Amino acid sequence: MKRLILIKYGELTTKKGNRRVFINKLEENIKKLLKNDIKIIKKLDRMYIETLNIDLVSNKLKKIFGIQGIVIAYKVNTNIEKIKEAIVKILENQSFKTFKVDTKRANKNFAIKSMDFNNVIGSLVLKTFPCRVDVHNPEVTIKIEIREETYIYLNQIKGSGGYPVGIQGHGLLMLSGGIDSPVAGYLALKRGIDIDCLYFDSPPHTSLEAKNKVIKLAGILNEYSGNIRLLVVPFTKLQEAIYKNVPSEYNITILRRMMYRIATSIDQNYKVIINGESIGQVASQTLTSINVINSVTSFPIIRPIVCLDKIEIIDIAKKIGTYETSILPFEDCCTIFVPKHPVINPKLEKCLEYENFDYESLIKECIDHIEIITNFNNNYKELL
Ligand code: ATP
Ligand code: MG
Repeated sequence: MKRLILIKYGELTTKKGNRRVFINKLEENIKKLLKNDIKIIKKLDRMYIETLNIDLVSNKLKKIFGIQGIVIAYKVNTNIEKIKEAIVKILENQSFKTFKVDTKRANKNFAIKSMDFNNVIGSLVLKTFPCRVDVHNPEVTIKIEIREETYIYLNQIKGSGGYPVGIQGHGLLMLSGGIDSPVAGYLALKRGIDIDCLYFDSPPHTSLEAKNKVIKLAGILNEYSGNIRLLVVPFTKLQEAIYKNVPSEYNITILRRMMYRIATSIDQNYKVIINGESIGQVASQTLTSINVINSVTSFPIIRPIVCLDKIEIIDIAKKIGTYETSILPFEDCCTIFVPKHPVINPKLEKCLEYENFDYESLIKECIDHIEIITNFNNNYKELL
């Protein structure tokens, strides 16, 4: 018998007309993210992966969106004796007291109906191992899929769900070093958006460690994508101009309006801007603030965590592996020069009045000098 990985598609199986496009994208992503030696056999309702590194590959598959379930299966000829032999072999390495058999007979040329085959295998297992049947809460479920060939497996590993990354086109994630924006990026990837990341860097007010932290976060997100580019905007001059020209209580509001202006002018091929704003978290995220900030652009902006509590966001950050990096104590450009009393209900007229300096040429300078990073395995640790 042969051991292989069987992949069950998630939500994409509901998209009837587009199914092939989804499956091709998923295959492309698997090839990109799994640099291992693999052979993919693509079917409309599932995918089979043959590899010598089953455990390593199935672990990596857990991070690929568009996969609902990952199963390590045994393939045998569709022949009663071969199936029986395989099942005894598989169960020899298991410790269990209760079990059930679940047969699916897709191949109607196979003479025995599913229910009857459950009984055949059930009796075999009862005869061979000290155990009993429990159809409601078994320790082991023996799944048998009878097709042209037969697949036998015990457990299904949960996949990440979602849609294959890239199926929805490109978006730009505003990525700071905090807890929120990496989570927003993860959720956008999960819906099939291919993301690049944008970081506003203000040296020397923000440190190299802060930048390296963002590089590390982009690298963690890239494990779910394989396609991420990090764009670093040199923001210092513009930020200094804001502090020079704008009354302190409006600093953050205007700073964020500038960030939005830059994010939305970089490349019109991005279909959406994504950020980690969450209603009410800080003064610049009251509904009034968000509206006044957002009014600089008609570009679509999505905020995947807009209605989540901080605790819910932290739970996701821990699950996806960004939390430990996010909580490292390096400052962000939004946290330096924070005014004592940032305005909570900013007025648009005031913003327009305070933006009375030549910010356009500074924005152009920012965009003209963007640094693009695609290698995230930097010397981050050495710098700590
Ligand atoms: P986060 O935890 O993601 O840093 P936050 O709660 O600290 O968010 P803000 O600092 O107000 O909130 O930022 C709101 C959002 O604006 C961030 O989630 C991120 O998407 C974006 N942002 C903030 N600072 C930067 C930065 N330096 N570079 C890129 N994007 C940023
Ligand atoms: Mg922040």
